[in-house]
Amino acid sequence: MSAPREPRPDPGPSTLAVHAGGPSPSPGAPVVAPVVHSATFFYAEEGDGELRYTRYLNNPTLEAVARRVAALEGTEAALVTSSGMAAMAMTLLALTRAGDHIVAARDLYGGTVTLLSEELPRLGIETTFVPGDPTSALRPETKAIVIEVPSNPVMRVPDLPGIARAARAAGVALVVDATFASPVNLRAADHGASAVVHSGTKYLGGHSDVTAGVVAGDAELIASVRRRVRSFGPVLDPGAAATLERGMKTLAVRVQRHNANAAALADWLAAHPAVESVSYPGRADHPDHERAAALMSGFGGMLGFAVRGGDEAALRALRRLRILRVAPSLGSVESLVSMPRYTSHASLTDPERAERGIPPGYVRVSVGVEDLQDLREDLARALEPER
Ligand SMILES: *Cc1c(COP(=O)(O)O)cnc(C)c1O
Repeated sequence: MSAPREPRPDPGPSTLAVHAGGPSPSPGAPVVAPVVHSATFFYAEEGDGELRYTRYLNNPTLEAVARRVAALEGTEAALVTSSGMAAMAMTLLALTRAGDHIVAARDLYGGTVTLLSEELPRLGIETTFVPGDPTSALRPETKAIVIEVPSNPVMRVPDLPGIARAARAAGVALVVDATFASPVNLRAADHGASAVVHSGTKYLGGHSDVTAGVVAGDAELIASVRRRVRSFGPVLDPGAAATLERGMKTLAVRVQRHNANAAALADWLAAHPAVESVSYPGRADHPDHERAAALMSGFGGMLGFAVRGGDEAALRALRRLRILRVAPSLGSVESLVSMPRYTSHASLTDPERAERGIPPGYVRVSVGVEDLQDLREDLARALEPER
């Protein structure tokens, strides 16, 4: 008689990122998940079960990535799409129909704002954007709440468990775009999210070389999102899925380095005489520091800082950078900087930006995995007073 086995704890994120969804270790089997480029698959016999076709998302490469995402998020199921926007769009189309209503946080990725404010209304789906607690705007016809954790560009961390409780009580799905956190720093479904969406283009891929999206959730929701993907067609190419899968293997080690570099740079910037303020959820002076500490296992690689002297001074500093690069996007091994004033938040007035916590001269940094000392020296040179 064998002794009862201790319940085995789930493997940690580093192990899951390397192994989950991969091939089982039978003799002769490949160690690395094979890339299956085939668009279609043989039947044994006509009508012998599920049709295999890559657009149906049952391509083995797409399935392997989906299993890994579900394992990392701790959800029943997941799927991959051709972009983060496709993941968000297909999720919202799965949750709503004409006449339904969505409540969204005001501070969302620009593409998501356009989707909600311009595209979904064409299908009869209206969205109310709220700056504070989204559950304050629920209506009988509300079907979904959309939030980002942390949000762009000042890394606000909403009360995810509180919003999830209110959403569940009202029978409303909570969609969390956790791109800025990555599944290593935040498992949003553990805190009540019904659907977790990521731009795979960012931390999951991690090298700015693949455009992809993922959605994780319970099996019923993911089946519904899959039907939308089959009909609308935003399928990730298996070659791109293999690039995403390769990137994901190092997700946990990359994110640990992103977290450490960002935390150190945030403190260093806060002490710099040319810096007015720093926005990083890992710092005690961030408005959501305690909430972030309770929800997240790391504070992430995204930070912001305001250069004294405003936008002109900030632009001057960016022109002097040699290692940090000025480009949109985030979540990759290279450090990237951008100024929301000229990009995502260009259409707002100064007072509107101030209301969202974006001061003049605000620079957003996606802190990469380079040597901290080099990043500090680069920023120190860029921030030197003009002689
Ligand atoms: C980039 C991004 C998206 C969109 O992802 P794509 O892969 O570019 O389509 C959505 N949400 C957030 C928070 C993002 O940063």
